[in-house]
Amino acid sequence: MADLLGQVHAAAEPYLSSLSSRAVQDPSALALLAELGGPLPASGGEPSEVIERLLRVGTAAGTASSGPRFFHFVTGGVTEAALAADWAAALLDQNAFSKISSPFAHEVETVALGWLKELFGLPAAWGGALVASATFANFTSLGCATHWWGFQHGVDTAADGLADLPRMPVLSSGYVHASARKALQMLGHGRNAVMVCARDGVGRVDLTAMRRHLESLKGGPAVIIANAGEVNAGDFDPIAELAGLAEEYGCWLHVDGAFGLFAALSPRTAHLVEGIDRADSIAADGHKWLNVPYESGFALVKDQARLGAAFGMPGAAYLPGPGDPGAGYALFGPESSRRARSLPIWATLAAYGREGHRTMVERHLDLAQHLAARIDAAPDLTRLADVPLCIVCFRATPPGVTDLDDFNRRLGAALLADGRVYAGTTVYDGQVALRPAIVNWRTTEADINYFVDVVRELI
Ligand SMILES: *Cc1c(COP(=O)(O)O)cnc(C)c1O
Repeated sequence: MADLLGQVHAAAEPYLSSLSSRAVQDPSALALLAELGGPLPASGGEPSEVIERLLRVGTAAGTASSGPRFFHFVTGGVTEAALAADWAAALLDQNAFSKISSPFAHEVETVALGWLKELFGLPAAWGGALVASATFANFTSLGCATHWWGFQHGVDTAADGLADLPRMPVLSSGYVHASARKALQMLGHGRNAVMVCARDGVGRVDLTAMRRHLESLKGGPAVIIANAGEVNAGDFDPIAELAGLAEEYGCWLHVDGAFGLFAALSPRTAHLVEGIDRADSIAADGHKWLNVPYESGFALVKDQARLGAAFGMPGAAYLPGPGDPGAGYALFGPESSRRARSLPIWATLAAYGREGHRTMVERHLDLAQHLAARIDAAPDLTRLADVPLCIVCFRATPPGVTDLDDFNRRLGAALLADGRVYAGTTVYDGQVALRPAIVNWRTTEADINYFVDVVRELI
């Protein structure tokens, strides 16, 4: 077994040291994927050969999304401490289900959640759970909101579901993320439950319309989703104003801060999340700006008891129930058996601390401004939005092109086919645009300059 692990260890150094210079995706390496298929082996192969093949194909054909030039979606890398701790999590193979299945994993998760609350300036009394992603953090948070809302109507939705209830009103701006809708879809409300109150084509919130809808509910309970960091340009809903509405009308305020919550780490951007401590729940990601491996998200919930009420799982005599001293995080979130995803979070926070994370966030803020300046200086590029955080929304506008949407769609496809750098397209206020996001600890100014050069070369 140690020899097999040695094979992985031997592959690590060349792979990691290639990340700063290799293409994000080498299109010619994808032919290697054919080596992985075929029928299920009848009696199996030599494990060392199996692992050799997996590493050879993976290190060549894998997407270097943990490298410094992957600006698509919002994709962080993996810090050194987090990667080593993730290997440790695989080695120890803990089940972070309960205090009985692993007191160690339970304690690391408790410490990691406490440190995350400290990092973001949130009260220690809040509850929380580590989950697989921000999608699941939205699910967990809105699951708590659902339970709260049912309770206002005298129904325990965890026991009896939604059948005896009207449709749960959910209000948000046009910034609401697809995964919040997906969470509502998984919770049985349907993704169309969201009443979007937007005042323009960008999706900025229309507070007057939101107030009007809240008035029309005549005091009935509702859920407001505030968006801290939207995906096209990194803009924020006015969280304090939404908190004010939520308090005035007795609503549950949920904040989707998948990456935008990290604005709290710098005095330069903390104003963007002002009022977030007035929320009832917050969803965020570890595998984006915290730079820990997939799958890592977390939900933080003001009323700790609500997590157990919504996600507790009473009724199986062989399992610890809620209130049992052996119970654990499986009763505070959607999963039962789960890996110790707390280890990389704990390790990266322990290794780099509050200052390390602030410094990284501020470096990314600077790099985003540098990218904005490079775009502003280029005659064939036009920036479409301000850059409050880490995303730069722009498009190519070479002279003589009449259909700019089609041109930029093809530019986006050409960028991915080329593979040296990655960024994705979106539609911003009706215009097809590129939206590189900078959240990887490895990214330098040279990577940003290289990105601009490749984009302009492909125009
Ligand atoms: C990425 C993102 C999500 C979903 O996160 P996953 O980790 O991919 O599930 C939700 N909300 C926002 C604002 C995001 O940027």
